[in-house]
Amino acid sequence: MCGIIGYVGTKSAKDELLEGLKMLEYRGYDSAGVCCFEKGDFRVIKKKGKVDALIEVCQGQLKDTHCGIGHTRWATHGDPSDKNAHPFLSENNSVAIVHNGIIENFEALKGGLQKQGVRFRSDTDSEVIAQLLQKSKCESELKKVQELSNLLVGSYAIAILFRGLENQIFAIRKNSPLIVGKAKDGYYLASDVNALVDKTDEYHIMEENEIIWIDSHDCYAFDKNLQAVEINYHKMDLSKQDISRGAFEHYMLKEIMQVPNAIKQTIKECDAPHNPYMRIPREILKDLKHITIIGCGTAFNAAMTASHYARERDIIVDCAYASEYRYQKYLNIENEVCIFVSQSGETADTIEALKIAKEHNIPTIVVTNVASSTLNKLADYIIPTKAGPEIAVASTKAYSAQITALYGLMDYIYCIKHKLNCRSCILKDKLADVVDKLQNFNFTKINKLAEILKDSERVFFIGRGVDYATSQEASLKLKEISNIHSESLFAGELKHGTLALIDEQTTVVVIATQKHLFDKTMNSIYEIKARGARVVLVTQFKADSDAIDMIVELPCTDQAIMAEIAIYPMQMLAYKTAVLKGLDPDKPRNLAKSVTVE
Ligand code: GLU
Repeated sequence: MCGIIGYVGTKSAKDELLEGLKMLEYRGYDSAGVCCFEKGDFRVIKKKGKVDALIEVCQGQLKDTHCGIGHTRWATHGDPSDKNAHPFLSENNSVAIVHNGIIENFEALKGGLQKQGVRFRSDTDSEVIAQLLQKSKCESELKKVQELSNLLVGSYAIAILFRGLENQIFAIRKNSPLIVGKAKDGYYLASDVNALVDKTDEYHIMEENEIIWIDSHDCYAFDKNLQAVEINYHKMDLSKQDISRGAFEHYMLKEIMQVPNAIKQTIKECDAPHNPYMRIPREILKDLKHITIIGCGTAFNAAMTASHYARERDIIVDCAYASEYRYQKYLNIENEVCIFVSQSGETADTIEALKIAKEHNIPTIVVTNVASSTLNKLADYIIPTKAGPEIAVASTKAYSAQITALYGLMDYIYCIKHKLNCRSCILKDKLADVVDKLQNFNFTKINKLAEILKDSERVFFIGRGVDYATSQEASLKLKEISNIHSESLFAGELKHGTLALIDEQTTVVVIATQKHLFDKTMNSIYEIKARGARVVLVTQFKADSDAIDMIVELPCTDQAIMAEIAIYPMQMLAYKTAVLKGLDPDKPRNLAKSVTVE
């Protein structure tokens, strides 16, 4: 789930690997390690903790190395420790591997190997990979790798070194991304294109089940039957500036400040003469009866926000968590479409959910921020968000871009169903107004509120209708990066249970952007105040009541798209609170950026 880097070429492998691992740090990890060929043998250095700790240990070591593999680990099996850090060597040190993902049948494989007398050195699922390769009786290394892919069940991106094949790296992938970078001085392998920026001009996104064999001069690709396949290289279109922090203290702050531009660029895409909506055949949309929007975490909250917008346009939308959709009983609904939302396009649960929709011949549309992603490859139709690379683990600008793209899609569907002209984006002007207002947002109140929240034990966010979707996202942001226990609730649900938790130590943030729901939400505020909690109201409406301790005033725009505005100060609130608590908002505890395990 975390990072893989590989290098073979004329430069120092140690330097290239460590630099690559630094670029992958943003994904969240618990340990890091490298393995290089040194005088024909493997030299492994690995350590629990940060890449900087690994760099420290590597000082003065691995002086003359030109080929190696490196890893940042996000533990799934076995605690974060030096022993469980990757790379792993096989028992007789003839094979070295790094692995992203989960080997689901590792217990059976491990049991079989142990019966043959193989001794394991870690508690991970990944170690079986090295041991299986050592035990393989296949005559060539390529065949061993092919055999391995037939034995493993689960998700994996794997880089492999064989003793005796000094400047060569082998790689395979399934349900986990892996990319080959071509440079003047050699070849790179990486789980994420960001690690290759400024290193390579061209990159190849490995296909599912593809086998790659790289040496310092060339790269060969094979399908699962070992037939040679052509490699498609893409031009590297990212620059160091796109993925650097610049003058900002954290990536998350940079990305919050980029929210207005993410919305602007996404509208531009939706409004282009040949916009991506137009690629969806009219026949699919004109008789559409039902839409399911599927996502995880923040992407699910974007789906929920869009579902309220769709309902106002008489479009029936259900939202589903990808991890649940996969296991639900399938209902054969006529004229259905599934929309999958994921920033990275690599979210394992969402990928699996999409495969299920395809099995049932449901047309699939994806909304993603990464053009080269697995979801884009698998889907029938792609609606790109134009947020630009998002590095911070907690999503902000991608969320706002997802909502924008989904609003546009719902409008497009509405127009097709009602035989209206849908050449340009209906919301163009209204969203331009949102962009303008966000650019001039005054965060003074948010700074004050963060001062209060930093010492809070628990915070509730409540709202009705679409404001509930915003409160879900606001709550998720806060808990992700500030480690404060936070929950979100439908305002009307409070009295059905959670009111029991409300006391003087509690802060309740009430989001109220819908005029027709405002009075009812005020009732909830009185109920909360009567139990002694601190009440913060986030609204564009005038409100004057002793029951409210603080008002975060929102600039006003069309009520239908107020969610775009309401979430903005909440993203900043989470950021400021985390910083005031002395936490690093870019690297939240236990979390990783793209969740490529199920
Ligand atoms: N499942 C492996 C482990 O726990 C790999 C985790 C990862 O993707 O970083 O070591």
